[in-house]
Amino acid sequence: MSVSTLRRELVKLGSKPIDKSEAISEAGHLLAASGVIAPAYIDSMMRRENVSNTFLGHGVAIPHGMIEDRHLIHKTGIAVIQIPQGLEWNDGETVHLMVAIAAQSDEHITLLQRLTRLMQDPAQLAQLFATTDPDYLCAIFNGDAPPAAAPAVPATDLEQSFEWHIDYPNGLHARPTAKWVETAKRFDAKIQIRHGGDIADAKKLVALLQLGLQCGDLLAVSASGPQADAALTALRDTMIRVSAQELADAAAAKIKAEQAVHHGFAPSTAQLAIKGIGASPGLVVGTTQTWKSAIASIQDIPAPLAEGSEQLDNALIGTRKALAQLAEDTARRLGETEAGIFRAQAELLADTDLISHCCRLMMQGHGVAWSWHQAIEQQANTLAAHSNPLLATRATDLRDVGQRVLIALLPQEKRQPEAGQQASNLILLAADLAPSDTATLDTSRILGLCTAQGGPTSHTAILARTLGLPALVAGGDAILDIPDGTPAILDGNSGRLYLHPGEQDIDAARTWINRQSEQSRQDEAQSALPAQTRDGLRIDIGANINRADQVAAALAAGAEGVGLMRTEFLFLERDTAPDEEEQYQAYRAMVEALQGRTLVIRALDIGGDKHVPYLGLPSEANPFLGVRGVRLLLRRPDLLDTQLRALYRAAAHGPISLMFPMVTNISELMALRAECERIRQELSAAPMPIGIMIEVPAAAAMADQFGAHADFFSIGTNDLTQYTLAIDRQHPDLAAEADSLHPAVLRLIKQTVEGARKHGIWVGVCGGLAGDPLGAAILAGLGVNELSLSPRDIPAVKARLRASTQSALVDLAQQALECDSTAAIRALAGDAS
Ligand code: PEP
Ligand code: MG
Repeated sequence: MSVSTLRRELVKLGSKPIDKSEAISEAGHLLAASGVIAPAYIDSMMRRENVSNTFLGHGVAIPHGMIEDRHLIHKTGIAVIQIPQGLEWNDGETVHLMVAIAAQSDEHITLLQRLTRLMQDPAQLAQLFATTDPDYLCAIFNGDAPPAAAPAVPATDLEQSFEWHIDYPNGLHARPTAKWVETAKRFDAKIQIRHGGDIADAKKLVALLQLGLQCGDLLAVSASGPQADAALTALRDTMIRVSAQELADAAAAKIKAEQAVHHGFAPSTAQLAIKGIGASPGLVVGTTQTWKSAIASIQDIPAPLAEGSEQLDNALIGTRKALAQLAEDTARRLGETEAGIFRAQAELLADTDLISHCCRLMMQGHGVAWSWHQAIEQQANTLAAHSNPLLATRATDLRDVGQRVLIALLPQEKRQPEAGQQASNLILLAADLAPSDTATLDTSRILGLCTAQGGPTSHTAILARTLGLPALVAGGDAILDIPDGTPAILDGNSGRLYLHPGEQDIDAARTWINRQSEQSRQDEAQSALPAQTRDGLRIDIGANINRADQVAAALAAGAEGVGLMRTEFLFLERDTAPDEEEQYQAYRAMVEALQGRTLVIRALDIGGDKHVPYLGLPSEANPFLGVRGVRLLLRRPDLLDTQLRALYRAAAHGPISLMFPMVTNISELMALRAECERIRQELSAAPMPIGIMIEVPAAAAMADQFGAHADFFSIGTNDLTQYTLAIDRQHPDLAAEADSLHPAVLRLIKQTVEGARKHGIWVGVCGGLAGDPLGAAILAGLGVNELSLSPRDIPAVKARLRASTQSALVDLAQQALECDSTAAIRALAGDAS
């Protein structure tokens, strides 16, 4: 809505507030109820009254909030409260019409201009004070029934004058105008301000506001009379002084709005030094320490070939053993998935190209350590330059194992001293961190990690999340210039590192940490309760897990079943595809572990980011837009049929629902259903529900048609976001902007829900948005029936939903749909439940 449109629901006639606060609160609630402001803006309007007088004159007041709270305004709007009997605003000032303004920028000025014109027509104003017809009031405000024109004033300047371009970012609003008037009134002179053909007396607030001056307008300020000269000098000083304040206020409002977007910790004095990508959540206070793990320099010391080969052999055998040990320890400490990182690293050591390259260099007369280092670097550089970001991050793994072998080859070389062996409360800074370094970090001393390179999907990021270490990645090389021992606060949620925090910031960070952990403790204590709103709307909660051994932990975290079992894990980091029997065993184990609870298994989603060398797929320039998900399955019946046979066999042991990823066309779904049916009949198996993931915008747009052929929808917000926003979800510079709380994504979700409703099928969300409490609340408000998320996110999401009511969630979703940016939607987080 533009400020020029006053809607009926924002008008209250015949009000009898007992005081100013009640009147402001009445208007504030009207604005909040129609989604114009967050309720917190009402407080801001109250605070404004303590610092300035919003009485405009002639029975009209214009309360509005503080400029720094503008981020609490969702869209520009006004509310009008009519008080026929009058309300004492300040001593001797009576208000009959209160116009509460929530303006995101200088639309405020347009409104003031209109109001002041209105105030020059006492008869019309008196009618507004008394009318019982809200439509009449709206018509006047909206300019449909034009008030009397302002009296004509000749547009000439007085004897002395100067010109000035107004540079107040929000134009000439009431507060600076009051300062101009105050200055002008001190002088025995007639002073006027001209803008084009409009002139106003500089001693009259209303007249000045009526000029509707906006940033950039050119003014002629002129004066005549005994003190004309002094008056102009003083007025020019005031205008310029106010300008500095206005600019500072606008800058502060901008920062505040930016901080509101992050909704996390925001220090008041510490400088923001690094802004990277948040890779593992959490806030920590510590001191920085640069991590140096590489052997400083490798000299080329030739040795007899036989001796060199034996050394290499021993180093490789020793490293393989060490990696096996590390994988075992990691499995015990962190889990099988994490241990797999080191099993895969061991495979890298078996690479014949790598070893033969090293041997060739040795045969040319180079030393073994030097040759090994060269071979590793050459291969790592090739990987790092790969267009597939997942492969590129594997360069780090290769360098990691390379280092291990080097250490075995050069036992006499000391590693550079490891980060602060004695110190504790460290925030490690590194160019990149090798997974084996990360897995073996002493978490009793190291609180968080920041890397210059890397991405949120790197093994280091995965390990940091599992270890519960807040981490920032892709922070850039500036990270390496930060001196050791610098006091810092790391925010792994927003990917920000603040340096030199003051006492106040440290206290605020500690308070924030304590509050968060208390909140998590409370959420966890209640996680067994259903995700049911206070008025009875129940949302089903599933876990995104892949293996039967993760079921117990997921149920303990509050999951009621499994909403997404990604089957790719069976295919990754190995040399051949799993056969039907192996797949059957994995699916059956999951079904049995769930003991009758919901299980949604997703058919193989290979392609895109997930690279499986043994499938012999051609490399693609844009793999995310290529042969991925069902596009691959429909081209490779060997993969599809094997998986379907394994699934139908496993379904004999308990309920399974099957869903297909990356469906774009109805014809694909029909072909897949036909194949399912053929296999089902072959095995004489019972039918199982067949759904699709909604992750291609085309599928969301056609949900009303897909609903006729699918038994359920599960929205994959990770991909739906990347395809809607045209941002590669792993792009090092853009990934952070691929935020699923984009209004366009929410509109597609709404369309999906409507499509599902039309056919009476359920709709869930299994992408990352379901794990964000604000996202979950909006999704529930949009009408989603089920959320499936990572077990660690379940308690907070359940708590958010349980604290709410269905109508509040629906309102929230409605507001989100009307927002014009992700930032505006994120700012809704502070709203009422
Ligand atoms: C998604 O796209 O949101 C999803 C759940 O699938 P994946 O992340 O495995 O692509
Ligand atoms: Mg997906």
